[in-house]
Amino acid sequence: MRVFKFGGASVKDAQAVRNVVRVLQHEGTENTLVVISAMGKMTNAFEKLIQAYFDGTDFLQEALDFIQNYHLDIIATLFSDQGHSAIVDKVHHLFGELNGFMIRNKIRDYNYVYDQMVCYGELLSTTIVSEYLQSVGISNTWLDVREVIKTDKNYRDAKVQWEVTENLIQKNVDTKQLNITQGFIGSNDDVTTTLGREGSDYSAGIFAYCLQAESVTIWKDVEGVLNADPRVFKETDLLKEISYAEAIEMAFYGASVIHPKTIQPLEKREIPLFVRSFYDLNNKGTKVSKGVLLKPLVSCFIVKKKQILIGISAKDFSFMVEDNISHVFRKLHEYKLKVNMIQNSALSFSVCVDDKYGNFEHFHQELKAQYTIKSYKDVSLYTIRHFDDKAIASIRNRGKAILRQINTKTAQLVLQENI
Ligand code: ADP
Ligand code: ASP
Ligand code: MG
Repeated sequence: MRVFKFGGASVKDAQAVRNVVRVLQHEGTENTLVVISAMGKMTNAFEKLIQAYFDGTDFLQEALDFIQNYHLDIIATLFSDQGHSAIVDKVHHLFGELNGFMIRNKIRDYNYVYDQMVCYGELLSTTIVSEYLQSVGISNTWLDVREVIKTDKNYRDAKVQWEVTENLIQKNVDTKQLNITQGFIGSNDDVTTTLGREGSDYSAGIFAYCLQAESVTIWKDVEGVLNADPRVFKETDLLKEISYAEAIEMAFYGASVIHPKTIQPLEKREIPLFVRSFYDLNNKGTKVSKGVLLKPLVSCFIVKKKQILIGISAKDFSFMVEDNISHVFRKLHEYKLKVNMIQNSALSFSVCVDDKYGNFEHFHQELKAQYTIKSYKDVSLYTIRHFDDKAIASIRNRGKAILRQINTKTAQLVLQENI
């Protein structure tokens, strides 16, 4: 059994969906389970719709029309007149369910509402791709992933209930066929949950683990995992082989090409992960496996932009040790400030954080009586794995380094760029 995952970019328009067919024809369709994300940037569009619904704003209809037209346009290009009305009925049925939820729902829990609505991105994309495959003669089974991936009720970041999920997947997936299913979503009983943004890679990992698959392939618009984000660095190298441990390290520091949770289940069963280009099918891309640490052994750059560097010292000049640090950490956790780097000395303590939820000012207000807090906003955190002097020098002209931390394999620099 092989597991394939196609992300948003690989199904962003009609031409991209046709290309998915080309990939499947080239690679074969037997013994394959295909996990698909929402089309293009549809999850972002759903987030806008959900906000409008939750706040009761007039933007709701516009947001809904945008999503509906996006899918209908793709369908209009893909299907001939004959096949057109059946798929349009299916898609209207899904929009009917979504509208029904918006009318009936009385629960004011944002995270709950989010999961009940955002899942339609994946339900729509898989319905369209599955029907299109049928229409070009590739028979397949559409699987509602909510029937097999079971989670707790932690909406928007649900944890997988592994035992029941493994049983259900083994019972319900016909391993001889081509199966099409959704990434990112699951369920608790009959209630939809989601695994966190960009979670479709993780869904592929879950299926592969439960099916003891021979491999997972994530199809991308790049040739594989590169040693740096090509949107930030002009010159990049393809990493041909990466060990599980190294891939986890890279994901931990923020390399956005593979979702961090994906690797662990694969490592447990030693299932190799391939990251390949959906354009260039002759390119072998990247293999993540138990094998070599990194091939070629080059410096890898991971950049996290829009960070806040916070310097904290106690006003009474007490040492920044266990009690103070644990207090500060509790508050960072409470305000969901995600810590990406830590450095401390006797009297001060610095953290570089991601303020995803815009809570920094509240954190500051709460701690400022007891601590002196200095902050640098909009800084970039550069992490270089397997650094050398040349690698560090290569980013020097990008901005002023205001903090650096170096250990055996990893160098981290906080830069003030564009000044
Ligand atoms: P998906 O369609 O699967 O969601 P993403 O857009 O999330 O795909 O991921 C693919 C993009 O990730 C690439 O187009 C590339 O710009 C970016 N990227 C960031 N870091 C890396 C890296 N180290 N190697 C390859 N691509 C990277
Ligand atoms: N569609 C979801 C997202 O955009 C899941 C994914 O693409 O992995 O976050
Ligand atoms: Mg993605």
